[in-house]
Amino acid sequence: MELDFGPEAEGFRAEVRDWLDGHLVGEFAEHRGVGGPTDAEAWEVRLAWDRELAAGGWLGISWPKEYGGRGLGLLEEIVFNYEYARAAAPYRATCSALDLLGPMLVAMGSEAQKRRFLPRILDVSELWGQGFSEPGAGSDLASVRTRAERDGEDWVINGQKVWTTMGHVADWLYVLVRTDPDSQRHKGLSMLLVPTDQPGVEVRTIRNLAGQDEFAEVFLTDARTRADLVVGEVGQGWRTAMGTLGIERGATLLPQQLTFEREAEALLAAARAKAEAGQLDPELRARVVQAWTSVRIMRTTNLRTIGELLAGRDPGPQSHIAKLYASTGHVRLGHLASELAGPAGQITGSGYALDTRQRTFLLSLAETIYGGASQVQRNIIGEQVLGLPREPRP
Ligand SMILES: Cc1cc2nc3c(=O)[nH]c(=O)nc-3n(C[C@H](O)[C@H](O)[C@H](O)COP(=O)(O)OP(=O)(O)OC[C@H]3O[C@@H](n4cnc5c(N)ncnc54)[C@H](O)[C@@H]3O)c2cc1C
Repeated sequence: MELDFGPEAEGFRAEVRDWLDGHLVGEFAEHRGVGGPTDAEAWEVRLAWDRELAAGGWLGISWPKEYGGRGLGLLEEIVFNYEYARAAAPYRATCSALDLLGPMLVAMGSEAQKRRFLPRILDVSELWGQGFSEPGAGSDLASVRTRAERDGEDWVINGQKVWTTMGHVADWLYVLVRTDPDSQRHKGLSMLLVPTDQPGVEVRTIRNLAGQDEFAEVFLTDARTRADLVVGEVGQGWRTAMGTLGIERGATLLPQQLTFEREAEALLAAARAKAEAGQLDPELRARVVQAWTSVRIMRTTNLRTIGELLAGRDPGPQSHIAKLYASTGHVRLGHLASELAGPAGQITGSGYALDTRQRTFLLSLAETIYGGASQVQRNIIGEQVLGLPREPRP
């Protein structure tokens, strides 16, 4: 089924397709379908691909022109992402800065911050990591303990961050810190932009389940940043962080959808081959049908959410349902794919390169944690959608 984005978007869509046809060639084409939000696979090629996209003017489609963007709307952003996923172009290496930090700076940054940082996100000359989580402050982000104190024209920062995706290659971090030492929970926090190239920042890589150097723990010991590198107001970091987490998730729904559909089709092909060999037992058969159906249901939900966003309405708690359904569904899809592959799907270990399907399955397990763990999503749905009593809070 082909989506109809309306006559206005068709010219833009043709432009995107033409560009992708002409540029998704050579080693970029060899890496079709590679990567995900936290996948370190083929990092250098993907970074080169991001630079190719930057040169073509395809990063920051909806960001203001004066900071290097295209100044277009959410519809164009969605059309681009859709065509991009349809072509199975490599996943953008710099997605954290493009999807989270950039929109946050556009909405809440000072004029000087926008001019200094946005063009360098868009030309991929500076890489960013997100320093929100800490040991003891993940789902419960309000428990952040890393602190920052003013010292003349600087902030001096002490504490530890963890699970910083691509922290080991980041030039800058956007970190949530406690600037009021006497504050509790959501109050007294601030969002600081911190350069990593200084003695006070020590980064230790953490290896993920697929054996990749994907994230890092970051130790901040008298690290410094300039006083004017606070995003939003001092003490209002919670507002800034929540703004970041809630930004236009809609633009990424359809690409994720298309990826799942491709994976479901591959799964179906494997199931057919197994059935022809007389090896598809009824239980597995039922699970294949269920997995394929759930991808279709996901499509309908996503289209509804996007419809709401394009009409300028807030889709409300629907995004939590979509997140929970997609992440748990993706794990089931991956599990099933590895079962259909038989013993070959289980081979891992040093000296053996995981194939894309195995890597996707292993990385999908993390999708039920980052961006809001499944248990927390269920709490939100229980309380905000179903009207169940609030869970006890500390
Ligand atoms: C691949 C990956 C990439 C990441 N990248 C980044 C990044 O770039 N920057 C960054 O700052 N962070 C990042 N994170 C961290 C991520 O945001 C946290 O892992 C997540 O918020 C969960 O926090 P936690 O690990 O401290 O687990 P906890 O919050 O300690 O949770 C442990 C378990 O308890 C459950 N739980 C917690 N609270 C409740 C509750 N109220 N009710 C029911 N169950 C509950 C959780 O669901 C989970 O199962 C990343 C994580 C992963 C896996």
